[in-house]
Amino acid sequence: MKPLPIRLKLSLWYFAMFATAACLLSIASWWMLRSTVDATEYHELKERVEDVQLLLAHEDPTRGMDELRQEFAAIYSIKDDGKWLQVMDQDGNWIFRSKRMLAQNPGLPLPDRLPGRGLIEEFHQGSHLVRVLSYPIEIRGRKYSVQTGLALNRSIVLLTKFGTDLFLLTPAMIILAAVGGHWMSRKALQPVALLAAEARRINDRNLYTRLPVPSANDEISDLSRTLNQMLERIDTAFASVRAFTGNASHELRTPISLLRAEIEVALLRPRGEQEYHATLLRLLEETIRMTHLVENLLALARADGGAETVVMVPISVDALFMRIEETWRTIMQFGMIDFRIEIEGSELAVLGDPSGVSRLLSILLENASKYTAPGGSVTLSATSKANAITLSVRDTGIGISCSDLPKIFDRFYRGTEAGNFGSRGSGLGLALGKWIAERHGTQLNVETEPGRGSRFFFSLMACPMPCTNEIASVAQR
Ligand code: ADP
Repeated sequence: MKPLPIRLKLSLWYFAMFATAACLLSIASWWMLRSTVDATEYHELKERVEDVQLLLAHEDPTRGMDELRQEFAAIYSIKDDGKWLQVMDQDGNWIFRSKRMLAQNPGLPLPDRLPGRGLIEEFHQGSHLVRVLSYPIEIRGRKYSVQTGLALNRSIVLLTKFGTDLFLLTPAMIILAAVGGHWMSRKALQPVALLAAEARRINDRNLYTRLPVPSANDEISDLSRTLNQMLERIDTAFASVRAFTGNASHELRTPISLLRAEIEVALLRPRGEQEYHATLLRLLEETIRMTHLVENLLALARADGGAETVVMVPISVDALFMRIEETWRTIMQFGMIDFRIEIEGSELAVLGDPSGVSRLLSILLENASKYTAPGGSVTLSATSKANAITLSVRDTGIGISCSDLPKIFDRFYRGTEAGNFGSRGSGLGLALGKWIAERHGTQLNVETEPGRGSRFFFSLMACPMPCTNEIASVAQR
């Protein structure tokens, strides 16, 4: 079932609560009025019983039954004959019975059979509903049962009128509550509707816009603040994507222009075989650099999109370094750099993603080779401490200045010295390296001394040596 809109839900809740409250209040007030009427009637009946008690108390105890009957008849025939009254002594002798009682002839238990608080009963007589109280009294050790009654017609009219009024008033109040509830829920949700309207106006071209925050410190201002924080994050992410795209296009435009210029110059006039060969070599070099750049861009884009996966397996440090040495020894020799490998300990293995770890080491080795002058040295080393193995690349190159140091891990950032040194790069290597390290739950650190060299290092969790098949598969990757 489709969930109801929040405004309707609020109105329904308000209506249900108010309707329940109105019904309960009506029932309670009717019940309270009825109890009050009952108590007043009981009180009146009780007073009549006390009248009889008073009369009996003032009677001369030596008088006989007949004299007592005559006395009662004399007083009550005039005073109460139109009402309901009968008095009986403990032996079942009638002392007085009004005409209405005689006509109805209701039973009257002996005083011993009556409860201390009396007994209330009702009967119909003609058009009257009569309520009678049968009450035991005791005068000078002699007990009597007194039964006196009241017509309830007035109370019934009162209660019926009150009940009818309530019956008409309660639905009217409930309808009023429904209308009020609807109006209140609209009013309560108005700031949300305003916020939604403001939020709808924000798109990718005005992401800098912020929602108004109401001055009251309530849920709406909290929602506004949270949405503004979210907008801030989206704005920053958008800006970084825009900057990334801009920088990437700029980085790609330079080598493409270079390629085009080389080809155009080569085609200006016919050339000899050697000249064509030299041009093709330069084009190849530029194409390799472009491929490298595109690979880095792609890797970072995939990393941002969450498409790069990291599969953690045990990696033998010996096998990893052996493979790296095969690739990098020649490159280092070509740059006249002394390349060394140091492993502290035997049979070391780390837990990591084989392609990720070798890519990270390649980035560091490429930088080390780029920023180290001929005659310098680059050392790839592994040291084991407690449960971690630290892999590091140390060089005796140009080092990194204090002003460059905080920015070298930013995308497309290239150090000032790096450009002067004549090396070419795109400023993406360390950004990618940092991401790989983070995906391994570690940090890529740097120690450097301008003019003397740098050391980049990261630690991975040590693990038991993988079996020979695993080493072979790692070596192949
Ligand atoms: P690129 O090397 O393509 O410029 P990187 O992201 O790999 O991009 O490096 C960013 C910057 O960090 C470099 O431009 C350079 O200034 C500095 N850097 C990185 N590695 C070294 C190093 N081994 N020695 C000196 N500077 C380095």
